Amino acid sequence: MVKIKNLTKRYQNIIAVNNLNLEIKKQEIFGFLGPNGAGKTTTIRILSTLTLPTSGHVYINGYDVVKNPIRVKKEIGVIHQTHNIDPELTGFENLVVHGLLFKMKISEIKRKTEELLELIDLKKDINRPAGKYSGGMRRQLIIARALLHNPNLLIMDEPTAGLDVYTRRKIWRLIKRIRNEGSTVFFTTHYIEEAEYLSDRVGIIDKGKLIALGSPVELINNFGKVAVDIEDFQGPRIEFFNTREDAAKFLSGIDKNAIIRTTNLEDVFIKLTGKRVNPKSDQGEQ
Ligand code: ATP
Repeated sequence: MVKIKNLTKRYQNIIAVNNLNLEIKKQEIFGFLGPNGAGKTTTIRILSTLTLPTSGHVYINGYDVVKNPIRVKKEIGVIHQTHNIDPELTGFENLVVHGLLFKMKISEIKRKTEELLELIDLKKDINRPAGKYSGGMRRQLIIARALLHNPNLLIMDEPTAGLDVYTRRKIWRLIKRIRNEGSTVFFTTHYIEEAEYLSDRVGIIDKGKLIALGSPVELINNFGKVAVDIEDFQGPRIEFFNTREDAAKFLSGIDKNAIIRTTNLEDVFIKLTGKRVNPKSDQGEQ
């Protein structure tokens, strides 16, 4: 569904994306992770035809994003970090505006809205002004809008940023359902547990370069399924082991404060990038 070949994007002397190669299969949920400034949004902007690459190629369902942007726009539904729904219009009217931009007939927009209302939780509120919606309702409307014109690929830049834990989980279930209905999903996130839960495969990008690629389980197993948090005179650190027995053997006889636990994707991320993830906001949507 997505083929990225030797993709590079430069801004003056900054290399935002550095020779990226990546392929995403149909009906895959692909999570794109990286520290702040790693190049995630730039990649999404190129995939969604908003920014031109400096060099390299991107094909969406076989269509070149540079040579055939109008065709590519039909293939994709995009959810950007900034929300641009009209608060004066109802949820449905917001969908109509989007549908008309895609040259859909009103009857078709109505039919598709009915279908999407089976997926999202806005049946009662679809005819209320969108400005009155909660953050979670707005996010669902934005996802529905991105799906209105039947795209094959849903591209989402931090789809759950700023949402509370309950609403985030609701969006997770929605993303899984969207995939089960046949779409491919490419998303970025700062929430590592979100990437671990949702993604069939994860790509980790740092300073514009892809530094890891695989399923969450594969990436975790590369380090070791068992992690030991150690706190001693050197400060806190993590050691990885293939089995609990190996971890216990390591700890026996040494006098350290330690916790044995299962390795998670955040451990992998920190080990590879040397950075903690930094969600922009966990305080609810502004
Ligand atoms: P975040 O997680 O903070 O959103 P990101 O991984 O999405 O970060 P990008 O926004 O793609 O990262 O930025 C990658 C690099 O490119 C950064 O150094 C950024 O400052 C730079 N950059 C992005 N857009 C522009 C631009 N329009 N002009 C100049 N530099 C830019």
